[in-house]
Amino acid sequence: MIYGSTSAAADRIYASSQDILSNPTRRINGVPFSTRAHWMRKANEALFDVLGNPCPFAPFGTAIVNHTADGLGELICIGANSNAVTGNPTMHGEMAAITNCSAVLTDPEGPYKLSPSEALAAFSQLTLYTNAESCPMCASAIRWAGFKEYIYGTSIDTLVENGWGQIRISSMEIIRQSFDMATTTRLMGEVLVNETDPLFSWQYNPDYICPRGCERTKGTCRKRTSNNSTMLEK
Ligand SMILES: [Zn+2]
Repeated sequence: MIYGSTSAAADRIYASSQDILSNPTRRINGVPFSTRAHWMRKANEALFDVLGNPCPFAPFGTAIVNHTADGLGELICIGANSNAVTGNPTMHGEMAAITNCSAVLTDPEGPYKLSPSEALAAFSQLTLYTNAESCPMCASAIRWAGFKEYIYGTSIDTLVENGWGQIRISSMEIIRQSFDMATTTRLMGEVLVNETDPLFSWQYNPDYICPRGCERTKGTCRKRTSNNSTMLEK
């Protein structure tokens, strides 16, 4: 119910406003969908770029982009879930990427050479692409950083449907409850899910096809080592 109305029409409007994030096919904040898709693919590719593996068990990848630059925008940094390689349980893809971006932005030998305070301020110009909806820890980190935009692929609901254990607080709820922050973050969800969902669909389903470049070995998908050129295989 909204505004005390009891009409079915109002209920429908309220329900739909809860369901719909920004339509991911629209040109939003001046950025066309083809550009959004380009960077969501980069978030997927971060798995290989960071881990050297197109099908890690936890295939959570992130790309952080400056859309104030011309054309497609400028990639600032990437990150991939690195729990297994660092022993740090907070190294989700988004946290790894934010850590990497801080290092890139403040590197005295790097292209930006920002002071720490300048780096903190820079996040309000940046867009974070992650191939799956952020957990509450990462969504909160995104709000603390003050990103201009936060764009995800596969939803938490889809992760749960595919067998993933998740903390069931949506990013929409984190955004909603962060109204006291000095920054605002635009949220867009379920972008390019036809390419992100398959990365999260094989881990708990032995019949699901492995991601490109991988094959089933002893019940799990592993990076293909044979010369077989078949792109997809169970
Ligand atoms: Zn997370």
